[in-house]
Amino acid sequence: MSMIDGLERPVPVPFDWAKPFWDAANEKKLVVQHCGPCDLNIYPPKEKCNECDTTEPLGWKEVEGKGHIDVYLVIKDSRIKGFRGAQPINFAIITLDEDPGLNFLSNLPGTPAGEVPVGAAVEVIFDESVEVGRQLVPEWRVIG
Ligand SMILES: [Zn+2]
Repeated sequence: MSMIDGLERPVPVPFDWAKPFWDAANEKKLVVQHCGPCDLNIYPPKEKCNECDTTEPLGWKEVEGKGHIDVYLVIKDSRIKGFRGAQPINFAIITLDEDPGLNFLSNLPGTPAGEVPVGAAVEVIFDESVEVGRQLVPEWRVIG
């Protein structure tokens, strides 16, 4: 039984330049973009690097899906239609261990709303229950 039962997620729209992210998710891999000239990792996917004016397309690299919970809030009365059946729901910011400059958002499936252990280790999951329209969506789960 997942915390996110009842949550209607918006179907991710894979822009052409973000498609590798969603394709990797379908293979249960977490990838981020990489700008060669800046040697900078980038997430969420962007069309181009904001730090430099390179015309090179951004590359992609797989990262280890491990992180820590930085901060969170609980959504209780969102008017976003898809959230209504799932509220209250966690909304946590995850810092990636491999690159603390990267943050991911997660509802932390399996962690009751409001009981988020700030600072706890998390790992990425590609659970079938978060499959939306045959697109696997990365989520994060508290370890241990
Ligand atoms: Zn750059």
